[in-house]
Amino acid sequence: MSLTRTSRIIIHPLHGPRWADDRVTDAFADELVSLLTQLVVIDSVNPSLVPGGAGEAELARFVANWFKRHGIEATLEDVATGRPNVIAVAGGRRPGRTVILNAHLDTVGVAAMNQPFSAAIESGRLFGRGAMDTKAGLAAFMLATAAAAERQLEGTVIFAGVIDEEFASLGTESLAARFQADAAIVAEPTALEIATCHKGFVWLDIETSGVAAHGSRFEEGVDAIVKMGKFLGALEAMSRHLEAGPRHP
Ligand SMILES: [Zn+2]
Repeated sequence: MSLTRTSRIIIHPLHGPRWADDRVTDAFADELVSLLTQLVVIDSVNPSLVPGGAGEAELARFVANWFKRHGIEATLEDVATGRPNVIAVAGGRRPGRTVILNAHLDTVGVAAMNQPFSAAIESGRLFGRGAMDTKAGLAAFMLATAAAAERQLEGTVIFAGVIDEEFASLGTESLAARFQADAAIVAEPTALEIATCHKGFVWLDIETSGVAAHGSRFEEGVDAIVKMGKFLGALEAMSRHLEAGPRHP
């Protein structure tokens, strides 16, 4: 996924009924709920986030097999040991632009949840770990990819079920290095608003060092904690500065 000046990144909420095509029927909605149920009952807790977590492999295999049943080739690509992205490609027979549909396979942990994988439906809502973030988007993208293949649309749809979004985004990092597209849509829930940008993240290890000294001769010492305090103060000031600055249009 190599972005150019003309590329557009769209982050689109997909956890609500927002059908753009009147050919989409109640049957489609039923299929979506059925598929979402099957995704939610598969434990895919991120093992980097929660030691001992199940990981994404079983879910990735389910997604790949689902595509194969729909006549679409899907491949598993190990990003970390036993933790594959699943990639399925629809179209490509007729010229046109390429769009990536990206949804993550992993979820956060299930502490304090009674039945995290029940996918129980109550009052018109489906409950379970990852039901919204982001298996609803995953299900929608699977059906959208299958629909694109069936209709033989111009261009290419690259479906990407990626690992490790909840920790270090290894899956999307690997995807971005390997695929090019004109646009990408990410299924992360955004409260039914279209989000066209998102902050990134960086992890830093900061060390300050000092010199130990006897309490009676403190002037010979250097206080590492005071140095770190200055760093933290500056970090907070930078955060306030950025918060007060201009927003993405
Ligand atoms: Zn998410």
